[in-house]
Amino acid sequence: MSQYSVDDLTCIDSTVSCSRCDAVCCRLTVMVMPEDRGVPRHMVTRNKEGLEVMARDEDGWCVAVDQRHMRCGIYEDRPGVCRKFAMGSAYCVAERENYARDNAKTVALKLI
Ligand code: SF4
Repeated sequence: MSQYSVDDLTCIDSTVSCSRCDAVCCRLTVMVMPEDRGVPRHMVTRNKEGLEVMARDEDGWCVAVDQRHMRCGIYEDRPGVCRKFAMGSAYCVAERENYARDNAKTVALKLI
């Protein structure tokens, strides 16, 4: 569980851009609330606590991600929590850093 909240907009990093990101926020657990009526039902599942959440694919991304463009495929109908997630917020920056660390590539050494 993250120490950050989507409601915390106190320190937005204006250098952060979704255009230079692998949609890492779309790997987080996304609660689907009753008011999120536009979310296609086939993209919704229940987590082990029985709460409705966006389903994720085998790689961990929300099933609504347009994988070709790495952006939301249901943007106009996305859940409220996705609408609240602010680009450059502390939560966003922390998730980007976690993702970068976890996916850091090892550079192979070449013996001469
Ligand atoms: S609904 Fe859209 S914005 Fe929300 S996690 Fe899924 S792909 Fe991302």
